[in-house]
Amino acid sequence: MINITFPDGGVRQYEKGTTPYDIAHSISPRLAQDVLAATVNGKVVELGRPINEDSTLMLHKWEDQQAKSTFWHSSSHLMAEALELLYPGIKFGIGPSIETGFYYDVDPGEKAITEADLKRIEDKMLELAREKQNFVRREVSKDEAIKTYTEKGDQYKCELIRDLEDGTISFYTNGSFTDLCRGPHLNDTSVIKAVKLTSIAGAYWRGNEKNKMLTRIYGVTFPQKKLLDEYLVLMEEAKKRDHRKLGKELELFAFSQRVGQGLPLWLPKGAQLRERLENFLKNVQKKGGYLPVITPHIGQKELYVTSGHYAKYGADSFQPIHTPQEGEEFLLKPMNCPHHCEIYKTKPRSYKDLPIRFAEFGTVYRYEQSGELHGLTRVRGFTQDDAHIFCRPDQLKEEFLKVIDIVLYIFKTLDFKDFTAQISLRDSNNREKYIGSDENWEKAESAIIEASAEKGLSTVVELGEAAFYGPKLDFMVKDAIGRKWQLGTIQVDYNLPERFELEYVGADDKKYRPVMIHRAPFGSMERFVAVLIEHTGGKFPLWLAPEQAVVLPVSEKYNDYAKKVVDLLTNNDIRASIDDRNETIGKKIRENELKRVPFILVVGEKEEDSGMVSVRKQGEGDKGTMSVVDFAGLINNEIKKQIE
Ligand SMILES: [Zn+2]
Ligand SMILES: [Zn+2]
Repeated sequence: MINITFPDGGVRQYEKGTTPYDIAHSISPRLAQDVLAATVNGKVVELGRPINEDSTLMLHKWEDQQAKSTFWHSSSHLMAEALELLYPGIKFGIGPSIETGFYYDVDPGEKAITEADLKRIEDKMLELAREKQNFVRREVSKDEAIKTYTEKGDQYKCELIRDLEDGTISFYTNGSFTDLCRGPHLNDTSVIKAVKLTSIAGAYWRGNEKNKMLTRIYGVTFPQKKLLDEYLVLMEEAKKRDHRKLGKELELFAFSQRVGQGLPLWLPKGAQLRERLENFLKNVQKKGGYLPVITPHIGQKELYVTSGHYAKYGADSFQPIHTPQEGEEFLLKPMNCPHHCEIYKTKPRSYKDLPIRFAEFGTVYRYEQSGELHGLTRVRGFTQDDAHIFCRPDQLKEEFLKVIDIVLYIFKTLDFKDFTAQISLRDSNNREKYIGSDENWEKAESAIIEASAEKGLSTVVELGEAAFYGPKLDFMVKDAIGRKWQLGTIQVDYNLPERFELEYVGADDKKYRPVMIHRAPFGSMERFVAVLIEHTGGKFPLWLAPEQAVVLPVSEKYNDYAKKVVDLLTNNDIRASIDDRNETIGKKIRENELKRVPFILVVGEKEEDSGMVSVRKQGEGDKGTMSVVDFAGLINNEIKKQIE
């Protein structure tokens, strides 16, 4: 008999060789029906995998990400089977599950697969799914694996196999289709009840622009038709909120092929919105004891060789800039930290000076492949709301608490109610991978864990996810329609202080290394604004809205009064404009509502005579008439409430 330990700590005994499915069944037949995958001793496996030793076990239903990724990865095999039947001779690259579904990169040869073919592929997938095909795992030798795919003429799989180690290779077969795969998979295809192939894109083999362009087919599947319907509604909503579409409509930002791909141009309304966000954070940071610094957009190559960033970004990013001076090379900065380290070194520091917090809205440049670029969320030049805190090891926890406070304040102000924090720690079985002493790591890790607990954060701990130079805390927010985004990050670093030989003098007159914290609560201004647009659907909170009120005269007779109202509002720090186009008042109201202006003020004879405005609020409609001064007071009060 073997002992199986469940997540609640309960232990039950089973026959050696039992499977997660058997165990689920022994608990309840209903559970066995719903369970899709299992984690045994920390590793996700299929339900039919025998367990031969004492183990911990988690059973995953659809709600768990492990179940979804198993489900979706299995669906990519199902799609591949359908494709092979519909397009004999088709070749396959890779077909992983992704956060919301799966894709497969395929080479259909002479034929092309287009959007118009997707329905046919979906139907075939559903037909095959109903056959209740089992996913059967078989371990194979490297020779056999290469032989199989050489015979099949699939050079992509052969290339993948060549990179694998003999003894670690497995095949999975469902129906007539066999794939090179590590697994895990579903028990059988019958649980795949609803299929939607969402899009087709080109993707270079192995992401390399020198390789052949394959066809990437994206899809998503569900265990119930109802879940697909919900998903489609959500996608419709997401389309409406797409920041690329809204950014254009609201005139916030643009891209120009002539300026270059992935290099956003902030238009006046977008630039002002961003400035308001920056000022908001600058205020918070000022209160938090941060000191502003400003550093150039480029730095000598040597700087990044010292920091290690050249090794990381050099060859794969923008290439060095040469000057007329022989041998002189500069890099566009991929990170602000090296500059800030040099600022730290401009004078001797004592333990009494610490912590020192340098903050900069620093623009950095990183090359991203053109296929990876996406609106403001993946760009080649972006501005981080960066800061580096240099502190003593004993100050880490307190500094973490303070940074968490800033992040929480931002979330509260911008109405991100649902968020989790991921604590990334090192893999303690693999300590040589990390730099810094055990003692320091333990101190830093417990500082993060304790600080998160003290702030009552809902956290997930990921072992082995820390960077080699330190543990970190990342914030994931859920937006208004339930999508997850990664925002702010707080990261401990033992590496750069070492590389830059940063020091402070302790109370005992000896020299010590400070610890460095990198933190960026927004992440980057570009990404944050993108998320904010998608979260709010462009209906920004009043304090951020590019335009807070628009004044609509009912006819041109009242244009002068309308202008007076705008002036009065402007004098009261309200962003207002006039819409004096010669259109009907109904049309002007509709169009300004579409532009998401929070307040619409209608003025005609009655209003002019009494010095009033008729107020309409976005989403709420008519608010009655009031004096301009009262209206200004109302807005300014609302703003005060939003950013207090
Ligand atoms: Zn696979
Ligand atoms: Zn940094």
